[in-house]
Amino acid sequence: MKMVFLGPPGAGKGTLAALASARMGLPHLSTGDLFRAAVKDGSELGERVKNILDEGRLVPDELTIALVKERLSRSDARKGWILDGFPRTTGQAEALDAIAGPDWVINFHVEDSVILKRLTGRRICSGCGKIYHVVTMPPAAEGKCDACGADLYTRPDDREESIRTRLSAYRNQTAPLIQWYGDKGKLVTIDGTGSPEAVYERFAEAVKA
Ligand SMILES: [Zn+2]
Repeated sequence: MKMVFLGPPGAGKGTLAALASARMGLPHLSTGDLFRAAVKDGSELGERVKNILDEGRLVPDELTIALVKERLSRSDARKGWILDGFPRTTGQAEALDAIAGPDWVINFHVEDSVILKRLTGRRICSGCGKIYHVVTMPPAAEGKCDACGADLYTRPDDREESIRTRLSAYRNQTAPLIQWYGDKGKLVTIDGTGSPEAVYERFAEAVKA
């Protein structure tokens, strides 16, 4: 089964992709991982990605598409795959269709108010990088890491103002994509609230049908 996972930051799409990958035996392909792997293997494409990332620029579509195409051609992707973070635009979706169109596009829907609650509660350890949440995964002592005792902090990206900006950028960018896949009859919208296990059950039920 070939699938694209869509969802705003904080919708839990990465967690669900990891779960689905393990249980369905399909590779979980995120563009971030593809970029890192390309840089590491030192290929010609990898060199280009490295230069772009070093300069802090966005990797252009044609390069991302070339990496996705190469990755989808490997033997472990023959049975299917889960793409996470790609495509993000209808242009990229058209390029993906030219390589191999997805069977399903899973859109994880979570209300903005719920995402704000999830993300503004996130705290990160300044010592070891361990992630906490003031509600769902609090440390034993407030503001201190259980593992190393260092202070916890809020990433600037996790402040409410910045989350609102990211969410509206995401909605603006992907609304046409959601429409595009919807018109093709490939879109499945899943309620992304609740535990990862609960969301997984809804997802598994939807793609079984
Ligand atoms: Zn720590």
